[in-house]
Amino acid sequence: MIESASIKQTLQSSGLRCTAQRYAVMAFLTDHKGHPTAAEIFKAVNRVDPRSSRATTYNNLRDLVKAGLVREVAVEGRAGRFDLEGVRHHHFVCDRCGNVEDVKWYDVPKPRARSLGKRVVRECQLIFRGLCAKCTGRSSG
Ligand SMILES: [Zn+2]
Ligand SMILES: [Zn+2]
Repeated sequence: MIESASIKQTLQSSGLRCTAQRYAVMAFLTDHKGHPTAAEIFKAVNRVDPRSSRATTYNNLRDLVKAGLVREVAVEGRAGRFDLEGVRHHHFVCDRCGNVEDVKWYDVPKPRARSLGKRVVRECQLIFRGLCAKCTGRSSG
């Protein structure tokens, strides 16, 4: 678990004010590595601070993503899932149960400059898709 001072510091070094809500979002993501959805994050934040509205929580989540502290993993047809940027990693998304799992980071070759045009690549992150370990077992049985 991250110390409260370090969450505050992380927010401030990214130019964000440490509000109770942002803090609660960061603390929840620190303790829950299973890539929660925005709805799950809202529920947790609301438990800590019942005055927090869904809109505010979602806006704070956006701010944290924009500041590069939180990453959204897009999963087609399902709600986006969130986790802390922290240590770089790739993702594996299960087709069947929608589980989002971390895959240890390795460098991915960047596309050729010609295919990028004027775009500037910040990083290249992979999303693997298929069946997670749990679902692989289930399909063979
Ligand atoms: Zn699965
Ligand atoms: Zn992750």
